[in-house]
Amino acid sequence: MSAPLDRSASWPYDAAGEPGRYAYAREEQPNAAAVEAAIGALEGGRSLLFPAGMGAVTGTVLTMLPPGGTIAVAEGAYYGHTQLFDHLRPWGVNPVEYDQTEQPPAHADLILIEAPSNPMLTMPDFAAAAAHRAPVICDATLASPFRLRPLELGCDVSLHSATKVLAGHDDLLAGIVTVGDDSLFDRLHHTRHLTGLVASADTAWLLERGLQTAEVRIERMETSARLLAERLAEHPAVTTTRYPGFGFVISFDVPDGAGARRVETTTRTIRNATSLGSVHTKLESRHRWEGDRCPEGLLRLSVGLEEAELIWADLEQALARA
Ligand code: PLP
Repeated sequence: MSAPLDRSASWPYDAAGEPGRYAYAREEQPNAAAVEAAIGALEGGRSLLFPAGMGAVTGTVLTMLPPGGTIAVAEGAYYGHTQLFDHLRPWGVNPVEYDQTEQPPAHADLILIEAPSNPMLTMPDFAAAAAHRAPVICDATLASPFRLRPLELGCDVSLHSATKVLAGHDDLLAGIVTVGDDSLFDRLHHTRHLTGLVASADTAWLLERGLQTAEVRIERMETSARLLAERLAEHPAVTTTRYPGFGFVISFDVPDGAGARRVETTTRTIRNATSLGSVHTKLESRHRWEGDRCPEGLLRLSVGLEEAELIWADLEQALARA
């Protein structure tokens, strides 16, 4: 019922001395191939597994951005992307942030949109991005392939931190990239092979298992998230609520940073921890990581599988401290 775990790093050649499909695990590996086939079918393309979402972004951008080129990155999106591209400036990566609800800058050589963005939860203008001459990567981690198929919306690459809802249990790091174009697939595969940006067999096996329940987890998390977003929007201590209408992540603001810290440290059922998409509901102030990129009072809530009324009761008692 699931691909057998094969931890081999190499496999014997055939009787004629020729390598078979699997020869050396840095190139291809059976458990990675199984999970890539499953996610590729969901996304409508061919997938490649990476050892983390950031590994997937690194491999993809180094493959697709010409040296000295400009990458237009959605503002209000995952701050790690901007940090990574700033770090890569000495290698000729030039990041520029833009409002993804508008046209990407004309001079961009590569575009990275995020649907929805983390933690500002905006949705990109897909048509505007697809109409640009530059290729488009869409980080759809917060949507999941069950809610959004970026390749059908004109994107060249769909990318996920599989660490999040696809795995779903806070027990692995992985990234996944899916493309429709075979030559781009080959170039990405070549980068992954040569850089060694490969996930372990154990990671791939565990991700394949997590994937089997992802759709039902998302349905329950989303039903709860809708209810919680409505209630948060009406709560007197909450000044802004962001929810794109689907998915399991909400962000909301309390008046200041000290209040946000009191709220996140007062919850009982909800865990005060980073990351999202897990079976456990999590809440954290993002200002501690992102500084001025987000409001001081912003709290990001990733809704898990606990009963919605239990989560709300916990939020309500914590918000009394805001
Ligand atoms: N993309 C998004 C939207 C994320 O939220 C994250 C991590 O939080 C990443 C990418 C990076 O993924 P990973 O932590 O698996 O490297």
